[in-house]
Amino acid sequence: MQKLYAAFLALGVLFAVLVGQNLVGTFISADRMLNAGASDPVNQPTDAEYERVTRLVAAIGVAAGQDADWSPSIVIKASTVLQAYATNGEIGVTTGLLRILNDEELSFVMAHEVTHMLEEHLFDVILLRLAVLFSSAVLCLAAIGGAIALFVPSARKQWAMTLWAISLVCAGSMYVNSKVSVANEWSADRGAVMLTQNPEAGARSFEKMIAAAKANTSTRPNYMLGEQVMGTLFPSHPPIRERIAALRQ
Ligand SMILES: [Zn+2]
Repeated sequence: MQKLYAAFLALGVLFAVLVGQNLVGTFISADRMLNAGASDPVNQPTDAEYERVTRLVAAIGVAAGQDADWSPSIVIKASTVLQAYATNGEIGVTTGLLRILNDEELSFVMAHEVTHMLEEHLFDVILLRLAVLFSSAVLCLAAIGGAIALFVPSARKQWAMTLWAISLVCAGSMYVNSKVSVANEWSADRGAVMLTQNPEAGARSFEKMIAAAKANTSTRPNYMLGEQVMGTLFPSHPPIRERIAALRQ
């Protein structure tokens, strides 16, 4: 029985280590994605690129029925990683991404981000994200105790139960966060189709991203094992091939 609890406990500690890597990843991921290769002059955005993105986003704003004074701040990050994002008042894209897309494709990607912004998707998930962060942190702390208890037979049972109870809460919050996030991504893709009337450009933009990621590793961030495992179990985005298929329907 003690051996069973030791195995159960070891498995819990392993899960917590993966969650811990994922937790660390969330704090460094923005920097890793948006500043990869930032010191290389080649990756710096040009004035022409700012004009290009600003022009495309302004056209999307008109399509979305926004007032003439609607102007989210536009940020172009000097990074080789293919990435775009939206916050409450900011839309960002990396030079790596904008340079592989033509205007129609980039317009679709920007319309996806504008939809995130206008539908306030960040607010939808902010409490969930906090729940994930908090439960991940508690799990990591519990795992430290669990790792010690592995060597104390009399403490194994209690620690194993505690660790797995916390793991369940953590996995539950990650599961719900994943479901909401994936739903938001579908919603943003639908919004981009409405705004651009050009789903084919969206499909092509995804295909270009897949091809670029295959050809050049600097276009994707280096994820730690824990991030890869948690990203597979609890994805934030729908599978890219499903998104392409949906756009072509
Ligand atoms: Zn998105």
